[in-house]
Amino acid sequence: MNEPAILDAPPEPAPADGGGETPAIEVRNLSRWFPGVQAVRDVSFTVPRGQVVGFVGANGAGKTTTMRILATLDHPTTGEARICGHNVVTHPAEVRRRIGWMPDHYGTYSHMTVLEYLDFFARALGFKGDERIERIAEVMEFTDLTGLADRLVNALSKGMGQRLCLGRSLLHDPEVLVLDEPAAGLDPKARVELKHLIRILAQEGKTVFISSHILSELGEMCDSLLFINQGRIIHHGSAESLRRGSAATSLVEVRLAHSNERLPEWASLSPHVTFRETTKEGGRIEIDSVDPEILATVLRRMVSDGLPVVDFHLQERKLEDAFIEILGELEAAGTPIVS
Ligand code: ATP
Repeated sequence: MNEPAILDAPPEPAPADGGGETPAIEVRNLSRWFPGVQAVRDVSFTVPRGQVVGFVGANGAGKTTTMRILATLDHPTTGEARICGHNVVTHPAEVRRRIGWMPDHYGTYSHMTVLEYLDFFARALGFKGDERIERIAEVMEFTDLTGLADRLVNALSKGMGQRLCLGRSLLHDPEVLVLDEPAAGLDPKARVELKHLIRILAQEGKTVFISSHILSELGEMCDSLLFINQGRIIHHGSAESLRRGSAATSLVEVRLAHSNERLPEWASLSPHVTFRETTKEGGRIEIDSVDPEILATVLRRMVSDGLPVVDFHLQERKLEDAFIEILGELEAAGTPIVS
């Protein structure tokens, strides 16, 4: 089958850098109104190539609407979005060549097997002959579906179905993946499998833009997190900086192999350190810095002074707490918040 008949406007001038440094995703002042609802409000953000960015927000925050616009399935009311430099409204075919889209629900294809399903989409993408067979085999191997090639799609578990949906979005080896709630409804094992696949894709240099309302899920695999609330971007930063927050000190939980009696005295004699409280197996200390070099120096001194340290654990804020805190700050600043 030929490529779907999507007509692009005349080509845009090539970027001066040949496209290499152009961000994978650029969104500028994007808004989308539905009758009576402004789903997306003046949203701007950039995702550099090769990054994994989590898109986080409550139900109805505007994630799917933004992602559907990036995937060329909807038009913004105002503003613009580009994928690898190509405008999603004027050059949708260029965008579709570069983007793999995984919707939060995939259609029902009850009388198709896994192989037939992938073959259908590979044909629609223009793959022919041996190339098509090879590409489907590669995708099935990557998503661990080879042994399920003849299984009917509606007989797949939720996790298998999500892997199939991811496989479908990978058929044309896109540079940018836009994944809408891929882990929703998966059991813990299926979540781990999916995270593993996303990690491999990131290592291969793909840009991944992934939404979820479960923050802990995204924190460990994303370079940065983009928070959206009531259609507005309210924060964009690394998971690490969010966990650290604006704190100027570090709270460290110390576990000792035996006898915690020396810890308070040691802390009172050590620069940068204040003893906070005793715990069953050691205690909590506060260090007057967030500089990793200072933390490492404190740990080294603790060991060289003969304390039997078995664990030195930085206590971080939970990402959920950071999100709530940001909402609280906005509310205090007078920005209306709807959770
Ligand atoms: P969820 O996590 O529940 O999927 P979301 O962050 O993806 O939420 P959106 O689906 O983008 O949120 O919806 C944002 C707002 O826009 C919601 O109020 C929703 O009801 C509304 N909305 C989305 N699509 C339409 C539509 N086609 N017509 C009218 N309103 C819509």
